[in-house]
Amino acid sequence: MATDPTRPKIGFVGLGIMGLPMARNALKAGFPLTVTNRTLEKADRLTAEGATVARTPREVAERSDIVVTMVTSSPDVEAVTFGPGGIAEGAHAGLLVIDMSSISPVASRAFAERAEGQGFRTLDAPVSGGEIGAIEARLSIMVGGDAADVERARPLFEALGKTIVHIGGHGAGQACKLANQIAVAINNLGVAEALVFAAAQGIDLERTRQVIAGGAGSSWAMQNYAPKMLAGDFKPGFMVDHQQKDLRNVLDAAFATHLSLPGTSLAHALYSALQADGDGRLGNLAIIKVIERLSGIEARTTE
Ligand code: NAP
Repeated sequence: MATDPTRPKIGFVGLGIMGLPMARNALKAGFPLTVTNRTLEKADRLTAEGATVARTPREVAERSDIVVTMVTSSPDVEAVTFGPGGIAEGAHAGLLVIDMSSISPVASRAFAERAEGQGFRTLDAPVSGGEIGAIEARLSIMVGGDAADVERARPLFEALGKTIVHIGGHGAGQACKLANQIAVAINNLGVAEALVFAAAQGIDLERTRQVIAGGAGSSWAMQNYAPKMLAGDFKPGFMVDHQQKDLRNVLDAAFATHLSLPGTSLAHALYSALQADGDGRLGNLAIIKVIERLSGIEARTTE
């Protein structure tokens, strides 16, 4: 794939379910791209498409104007940014580091301060829209940080997503993502309960799903996840373990401010049941398995 040498040089650290298609879209948009991944073989998939593979986040930073991190949780972002062989070791004047993982807003703000002390800029820019949104460059991107940095990053964001919103200062993007995760988890639970109820009523599940998806009961989960729930296709997507990390961050913040979030607390407890059964690496739509177990009935369109 031909890249455009006049565009900023982009680096990607973390090529998992989300990071790989996002990096690919940066490349497709013509950005010169350097990538790395803890399991380095995954990075090789992008070399044939024109990316350069680096061995460490430090090397990625040395070769890039803007580095995106797309790893798992706050300690992982800290490791790839400030740990040995990390981005900070390769930082140079003008480097902008954009963390697009979903992490704690408190940690995100602390990382921004630390980076400023070490002479590089940061944004938090977590995303929503799932693996399909990453593949089709249709992500929603919620950004925290300084406006000038957001504008600098905008052409890259436009290559990765469709809805790009500057929420506020450092950590505001992560705070918004947590609000998003409350809606996601409770929506999934609502979809699961609706389908299990329909199964118990003995009505046609696919027709039920279709008509709900066209009315007031519709949601992203009803449109994208319900068909997979009915097919028993629970591969991730978005892993239960990752959603629990996000709901934990929500509940920690709620605890600190005496906020009562009964729906989130319930969703977290039900998802814990999946983890206890060893299903933490399934997609988050597997919540229907818990509801099915509680009622002793399955909602499947396949035998
Ligand atoms: P994933 O498939 O598990 O990928 C995680 C990536 O981070 C892998 O490349 C992994 O490397 C790397 N990584 C994790 N810990 C690391 C560490 N300590 N040092 C270096 N690399 C590390 O997860 P994902 O689904 O892409 O999710 C990535 C982030 O996006 C998460 O914060 C998640 O909550 C968020 N998110 C996910 C979705 C979704 O639908 N999947 C949607 C929106 C947001 P290895 O390959 O070596 O394991």
